[in-house]
Amino acid sequence: MQVSSLQERKSPYRILVAEDSPTQQRIIMAVLGREGFDVIIAGDGIEAARSAFQENPDLVVLDIEMPKMDGYQVCRLLKDDYRTAHIPVIMLTSKTQETDKFWGLKTGADRYVTKDFQLAGLAGTVHELLEVGGADAEAEAPRCPMPNRQAAGEQEVDVLSRVNDLLDRKLYEATLVNEISQLNTLSEDCTVTIDSVLTLIAQVTDCHVCALVLIEELRLFIHVHCAVGNSYFEEARRQAIGAAAPYLRPGASGNQLEVEVDSEPDFLKGERPGLDSIKSMLVIPLQARAETIAVLILTSPLPDAFLAATQRLLKIIDNPVGLVVDNARLHEGTRRLAITDGLTRLYNHRHFYELLGQEFHRVRRYHGDLALVMADIDSFKMINDMFGHQVGDEVLVALAAVITREVRDIDIVARYGGEEIAVLLPQTGARQARDVAERIRAAVEGHDFNLPGGRSVTLSLGVAGFPECRAAGSAELVQAADTALYQAKEAGKNRVVTWSSNGDV
Ligand code: GH3
Ligand code: MG
Ligand code: MG
Repeated sequence: MQVSSLQERKSPYRILVAEDSPTQQRIIMAVLGREGFDVIIAGDGIEAARSAFQENPDLVVLDIEMPKMDGYQVCRLLKDDYRTAHIPVIMLTSKTQETDKFWGLKTGADRYVTKDFQLAGLAGTVHELLEVGGADAEAEAPRCPMPNRQAAGEQEVDVLSRVNDLLDRKLYEATLVNEISQLNTLSEDCTVTIDSVLTLIAQVTDCHVCALVLIEELRLFIHVHCAVGNSYFEEARRQAIGAAAPYLRPGASGNQLEVEVDSEPDFLKGERPGLDSIKSMLVIPLQARAETIAVLILTSPLPDAFLAATQRLLKIIDNPVGLVVDNARLHEGTRRLAITDGLTRLYNHRHFYELLGQEFHRVRRYHGDLALVMADIDSFKMINDMFGHQVGDEVLVALAAVITREVRDIDIVARYGGEEIAVLLPQTGARQARDVAERIRAAVEGHDFNLPGGRSVTLSLGVAGFPECRAAGSAELVQAADTALYQAKEAGKNRVVTWSSNGDV
């Protein structure tokens, strides 16, 4: 048990007081001396820092305004060094402005006592700090004072270079945090933001491959920062999936993660001796709104790649990184809701027109081909009437999946209307589009929609290609595909018709 009252201690507590005014020194000596403390006086900031390292006092009282180095800097230096971080610090000042108090506490000071007449609050605060934490911490903290051999001048240089190093590091950390926050406004696109976050993290941690798993979205982003062998990459992917597994929602599995790789093309080529297996790995869960929203995984082919300094840095940036990632995913979620159809998850009518406008503009400006397929379920009303609306809905959902499977990633599938689906095919001529439409028709006809009696579902499809249809605008392209669709219905349904100027199929 730790007992730390004044009475039970054999030697008195030693309090280091840094204060440049002789009058204040006398008052403080009197106040603390009355309480039975040993007081060590330092007349400026440098002396205070040196004394703290050499004497390892039980508590430090720091004036803010002092020659050579002010109290903020001394406090920051002591709180940053593992040998002195445990020592309670009281900032003592005539300043009462809130901003000074804010900055004082931000340096890591434990308390802030205003210099009033006879320092009424000081003794009580010293007792409070010594009893609460100081003495307990002291029992655990190693007493390892700085060597005392140097000349005073050298020690001064040493303290100053420590302050410089510390300030430089703090500036670096603040710049990095600021840089991360800037990524918030970088892009509308979640993938772009996350790639930038991973690039930045890789730069400051020296990792070769880093990855991030979005827990709810089941997405895994892998950023290959330096060239590694194929086997390294595969291992990194497995490790990332494994690291995220404990955080996935019940029922979800690592195999469901959709993987997106960001890498220079030749960073992942063949075998690379020495770069073929992971020797160091760090896993950092990222929190936002008291939830783990993502997991960050850093890997390196070098042993002990992520030392204490890197881990410390990651502790500083994990919160801002969590916030940026959370914002990016929420933003994308909101955007997705706005552009997709709630039932089928295909793009909605409005977004289809937006994309059609862009594609049409592009093809007219740079020339090339653009094709549109309009598909409509045959006699869908009958399916609803026979099996109910809910079964009809299920057919629509399954149909969306079947069609999406039959087209390329760059093709745009949208729910144009009730049971009408539009498929926009960039860089595709009318003839090729007709083949795609025929493939879709056959796939739908052959698909088992689980309807009673094994009843099948069929589609009629109209195809129009630009420039063949000579559409002046995107609306005319839709009209051409619609005309062809109408002809397909007229001709008996379950077929593909391509628009042609003379009305031929
Ligand atoms: P056709 O072969 O000529 O296209 O005949 P059809 O019955 O498919 O066409 P019609 O336009 O007469 O009817 C379309 C039906 O699609 C009527 C409508 O209730 C149904 N429908 C539209 N949207 C939905 C939906 O979201 N869910 C369900 N279950 N049915 C829908
Ligand atoms: Mg129909
Ligand atoms: Mg219809």
